[in-house]
Amino acid sequence: MNQPDNKGYYGTFGGAYIPEILHGSVERLKTAFYEAKTDPAFKAEYYDLLKNYAGRPSPLYCAKRLSAVYRTNIFLKREDLNHTGSHKINNALGQILLAKRMGKTRIIAETGAGQHGVATATACALMGMECIVFMGKTDVERQFLNVQKMNMLGAKVEPVTSGNMTLKDATNEAIRYWCSNPDSFYIIGSTVGPHPYPDIVAYFQSVISEEIKLQLQEQINRDYPDYLIACVGGGSNAMGTYYHYLQDERVKIISGEAGGLGI
Ligand SMILES: *Cc1c(COP(=O)(O)O)cnc(C)c1O
Repeated sequence: MNQPDNKGYYGTFGGAYIPEILHGSVERLKTAFYEAKTDPAFKAEYYDLLKNYAGRPSPLYCAKRLSAVYRTNIFLKREDLNHTGSHKINNALGQILLAKRMGKTRIIAETGAGQHGVATATACALMGMECIVFMGKTDVERQFLNVQKMNMLGAKVEPVTSGNMTLKDATNEAIRYWCSNPDSFYIIGSTVGPHPYPDIVAYFQSVISEEIKLQLQEQINRDYPDYLIACVGGGSNAMGTYYHYLQDERVKIISGEAGGLGI
């Protein structure tokens, strides 16, 4: 199922577990998002940015030699060719348009490796909005190049020193900041967080499977693959890749997730 129920549940999972102080902000976001989704002018502006700013559609490339080795046809959806180098920009552009629609001028975000931070800082530079990116101190040191990019784009990177000083701690800090500054707009980059965030991120990434359908039709005269394979970090590229195929029984879905040393 790609649509949550009206409380944000996908079966057993979902909902909105937030501090009471954020209730109003999350409700206003929900109203704004579901209104924007049905507004043709919003969609037109979003698709214009995807095409003329981010460089979409991204190519669907048939990797012939790899396909020959495995005696199948392997297509690669080249999200790495988007502006800023990943699929993160799809969501950052969508959410910043939502922020603009809500009259917000200050954006906050969290980032781990820094790709979501860079995409958000880029969208903020595009729209002339203030940008604060929370990033664990350990990640700031590990991913210094992305920190420099965010700084050059005019964003303020806030190193977070609580906990392990990584992504989860940066998220906590961003939420803490949001509680004290409810006028800011929090751009979340993964299919996580309180409803409606997972639905928002899935929707703005769903352009990936929308394009795959058209591109497969054009290239192999059939608009679906036998298998869809995506990596799962925070779930955003995977959800975008699956979105328009979740109800299609002909398509088998495989997700790859890092298991660390635990397995
Ligand atoms: C962010 C990122 C991921 C993991 O995030 P998801 O939300 O799971 O998509 C994977 N690959 C690249 C290149 C990324 O930038």
